[in-house]
Amino acid sequence: GTWLLSDEGSTNGTVVNDAPVEKYSQLDDGARVVLGGSMSLRFSFVTEEEERALARVFDAAMRDGLTGVYNRKALDERLASEVAFAVRHVTPLSVVLIDIDHFKDVNDKHGHLAGDAVIREVAARLARGIRTEDVVGRWGGEEFLVVARDISVDGAAQLAERLRRTVAAHPVNDGGQAIAVSASFGVASLSCCGERKDVRALVRIADDRLYEAKRGGRNRVVAAHGKV
Ligand code: GH3
Ligand code: MG
Ligand code: MG
Repeated sequence: GTWLLSDEGSTNGTVVNDAPVEKYSQLDDGARVVLGGSMSLRFSFVTEEEERALARVFDAAMRDGLTGVYNRKALDERLASEVAFAVRHVTPLSVVLIDIDHFKDVNDKHGHLAGDAVIREVAARLARGIRTEDVVGRWGGEEFLVVARDISVDGAAQLAERLRRTVAAHPVNDGGQAIAVSASFGVASLSCCGERKDVRALVRIADDRLYEAKRGGRNRVVAAHGKV
C-alpha cells in the first residue's frame, strides 16, 4: 500500500526528505520526516518476519546464556520499573535473592561442567516454581533473583519456601551422578524499606537476610531480621 503523511496546518510545518509538506506527502521506505522543525524520524517498513527476528534478538539480549532465565541487565531494568510502579501506585513488591549452598564443593568434587549443569537445573526449578507474573533471573554466578509483584513479605516468604523445597527436592542428575543441591533465600519487600524505597535498599535487605539464612545453617528462608 501507499502511506501518505498530511500536515493539518501546523505552525512549524512538516518536512519529508527536505521538502515541506504542502498538503500530502508520500512516505517511502526510509523517508526522513521532520516534525515541528526539531524532531527527526525515519519511516521504515518492517515485515512480520523482520519483526519476529528483531524480537528474537531483543529477547536473546535479555537472557542469560547458560540458563535461559533473565540476565543481570534485564533484572536491573525490570527492578527499576517495578519499584517505580509500586511506589507510584502504592502496590506491594517483593524480591527473593537466592544463593546455591556450598557450590564450591560441587565444582571441586564434580567439576566445573557438572557445576554448570547444577546452575542450569536450579534455574529451571525456580522458573517452574514462580507465578506467571513474577520474573526470575541470574543475578551472578550461582545467585538468582525473583521479582514478585503484588505480594508483600508474607506472601513472598511463602513463595520462597515453596521454591526452597522445589530446589532441594531431588538431587541433580548429571551424566549418571546424583548431585545433592540446596539453596538459601533472603526475602525483602518494599514495605520493609522505610523511607528509602529504592532498588538498592530493597536488594541490600534481601542480601542481608540471605546472609542470615547462610549463617543459620543454609537451605532455609529468612524473610525478617532475627527470624531464622
Ligand atoms: P555458600 O553456601 O556460602 O554460598 O557457599 P559457596 O561454596 O556457594 O560459596 P561462594 O558463593 O563463595 O561460591 C560460589 C562459587 O560458584 C564460586 C565460583 O567458582 C562458582 N561459580 C560462579 N559462577 C559459576 C559458573 O557459571 N559455573 C560454575 N561451574 N561455577 C561457578
Ligand atoms: Mg554466592
Ligand atoms: Mg553459594
